Amino acid sequence: MLEGRVAIVTGAGGGIGSAIARRLASSGAKIVVNDLDEPAAQAVAAEVEALGREAMVNAGSVADLAAMEAMVAGALERWGTVDIMVNNAGITRDSLLLKMTEEQWDLVIAVHLRGAFCCTKAVTRPMMKQRYGRIINVASVVGVMGSPGQANYSAAKGGIIALTKTTARELAGRNITCNAVAPGFIETRMTEALGPAVREEYLSRIPLGRPGLPEDVANVIHFLASPDADYITGQVIHIDGGMVM
Ligand code: NAD
Repeated sequence: MLEGRVAIVTGAGGGIGSAIARRLASSGAKIVVNDLDEPAAQAVAAEVEALGREAMVNAGSVADLAAMEAMVAGALERWGTVDIMVNNAGITRDSLLLKMTEEQWDLVIAVHLRGAFCCTKAVTRPMMKQRYGRIINVASVVGVMGSPGQANYSAAKGGIIALTKTTARELAGRNITCNAVAPGFIETRMTEALGPAVREEYLSRIPLGRPGLPEDVANVIHFLASPDADYITGQVIHIDGGMVM
């Protein structure tokens, strides 16, 4: 379904990002594999190539606009188009408000919210010119419902949801859609770091009774990037086993 399309996936060396890169590649897309962790990005690029698709590695930070513009220019130079932008890179620096430092606040807002802004801005002009684009932002259920100990992260994710809707409204006239996904509890390195008590608490709130897999998220992102979703924009799709409804 994505034959000939070029997709950029940020944070693609991580759990969810690598699943997204593999899913889009298995559907025919060429992939820019972005991650600050260059060896992880290279390993995922090798997986994409093993699927018979072309890949490019980029190790720039999503919070660096100039680096993201250079990444987009590199993809345009090699492949002539940039069709799909998946803003997935992320980190956590959890702490209760009382103890949260300015550094913890600034870093998490910079990677998630500034990062989504920089990457969206970097693809806007080429997507407007080609009158086609699919921008998909990875938010979180905590951007909707809040989460104790995650003021920085939940505020960034709530901001990404608002950014998604504004991007959708501004760019719809050029046939560019922008949607978000809001994963719940997905098994990755990010959730491994949570203690057993927090994990049990989360699991007890999931009607489908199991944690999500990176592939559960990747499948919905593939749908949003595919022609099947051409008439969907400005939406937030929860992938959370029913946690929030
Ligand atoms: P992960 O830690 O496995 O992957 C995140 C990747 O982002 C890492 O490889 C990291 O190196 C990269 N990264 C960090 N800062 C970066 C930067 N400045 N520039 C480029 N890359 C950078 O975590 P994950 O669980 O795969 O998370 C992926 C996304 O899904 C994140 O946005 C996260 O907030 C979101 N999410 C995850 C869950 C979950 O339960 N795991 C739930 C909701 C949302």
